[in-house]
Amino acid sequence: MSKLQLRYFPDEVLKQQAKKISSFDASTRKLAQDMLDTMYENDGVGLAAPQVGISKRLMVIDVAGEDEKRKPIVFINPVIVHKEGELVGLEGCLSFPGVYFEVKRANKIVVRYQNVQGRDQKLEAEGNLLCRAIQHEIDHLEGELFIDKAVNNLVRDLEMTKHGFAEGDVEQLQDKIAATTVHTITTKQSQQQPVVG
Ligand SMILES: [Zn+2]
Repeated sequence: MSKLQLRYFPDEVLKQQAKKISSFDASTRKLAQDMLDTMYENDGVGLAAPQVGISKRLMVIDVAGEDEKRKPIVFINPVIVHKEGELVGLEGCLSFPGVYFEVKRANKIVVRYQNVQGRDQKLEAEGNLLCRAIQHEIDHLEGELFIDKAVNNLVRDLEMTKHGFAEGDVEQLQDKIAATTVHTITTKQSQQQPVVG
């Protein structure tokens, strides 16, 4: 078992578009296994290669609950070929420890990818943790981060400030949120367990 070093915001590697993988060799398998080990060690649901400083299109996800058997999925070169609906849910990110806020995602997706053997795979996910995690991790491969998809930017700024990822005044932000928050989220709320990926 080997653990990789996590990269945290604002590390440059998190903003780069990752490169396609074309060789499905022992080094790719080892990277996938090391990423799974690192994800489990950090209690994540998903992890993308840029989050460990490797700008390649590989990501791992396991949405099994704590007392369930592990169900790791390795996605190589994933592409969302269909998406529909909207779903708001709480998200965190291993590159922003402690930061949680609501993000809007598609409610249903179909993703095509290759497994570690290089075989083509297709997977559908709807309204669940897996659906959200796939979208969060694919964003990492594009150099996109969940901070640009917050439902409420003030809540995001408060979370970022509280955890040392942004400059700001916590009390001032709290006052602003109290003054402006209108509870008009009409989209369906998703699961209670937040995604951390
Ligand atoms: Zn993330």
